[in-house]
Amino acid sequence: MRGLEAIDTVGVVGAGTMGSGIAQVATQSGYDVVLRDVEDRLVEQGIETLSSGIDRLVGKGEVTAEEAEAMHERVTGTTDLADLAEADLVVEAVVEDMDVKEAVFADLDEVTDDDVVLATNTSTLSITTIASATGRPERVVGLHFMNPVPVMNGVEVVVGEKTAPAVTDLAHEFAEALGKETWEADDKPGFVTNRILMPWINEGIRAFDEGVAAKADIDRGMELGTNVPMGPLELADHIGLDVCLHASETLHEELGDRYQPAYLLKRKVAAGDLGKKSGQGFYEYD
Ligand code: NAD
Repeated sequence: MRGLEAIDTVGVVGAGTMGSGIAQVATQSGYDVVLRDVEDRLVEQGIETLSSGIDRLVGKGEVTAEEAEAMHERVTGTTDLADLAEADLVVEAVVEDMDVKEAVFADLDEVTDDDVVLATNTSTLSITTIASATGRPERVVGLHFMNPVPVMNGVEVVVGEKTAPAVTDLAHEFAEALGKETWEADDKPGFVTNRILMPWINEGIRAFDEGVAAKADIDRGMELGTNVPMGPLELADHIGLDVCLHASETLHEELGDRYQPAYLLKRKVAAGDLGKKSGQGFYEYD
């Protein structure tokens, strides 16, 4: 296995919300980054997102203009899978769809060197199933970054059925090299975070739908009452209501009725009210 000291280039597959954030923290930490998506437009968008993240740090005086320039230069965007051949570790952050992830891992298995660790940022899907698409399941691990990646401090390391202990160790070390703190979860649906977060969000939505309190009171009650920075409805809007519904459905399928998505969550997604990203969720956004 290629250890931490041998990692110079990090491959990131998927240049969306999470992939662009992972690429940003990797270049900020001195790694060369190859960022891949399926269309030039998406690669460019991802690079723009991470560039504005880096520029914000310059604005706040946290990095110098020269450091920012070097960070920009370390990132290469591509649509060509073959460019991931130079990666010493890969983090996959494509859409949350098992068929897509399996296809990506089968391709990564072909193009990357055998000793390279392949990590997935999946929120709810099985690491073990994703790993089975490769000929190196012992070198596949979950690296579940939190959104927004440059801001959130924690990374959940998820251990698949075949993940080798040295690979789990590397996952912790790599996340720490990106300035993050880690915890570890077994490959069980939702791991620690989403297994507990999704029912919390769904219960918040049900409480609103059943008239327990006004939405602002539900959020305020949970913020002040349990010392979380955001209540369930506001957090759902930030995550994306479609993302919450998809995660809830996966957990419901795997873990049964106590994970049933709230009816109102389904109705809002059906209406196209996806939260902050669409301008309308439980709250309205500019
Ligand atoms: P997103 O839709 O913003 O980005 C996904 C990107 O993957 C898109 O740009 C898409 O074009 C690209 N893609 C699809 N197929 C590809 C392929 N074959 N090769 C390369 N790129 C491909 O999604 P996201 O929110 O960034 O989520 C990505 C992953 O991270 C998912 O597994 C999700 O569950 C997980 N995750 C998301 C969050 C969150 O809050 N958004 C938090 C933690 C984990």
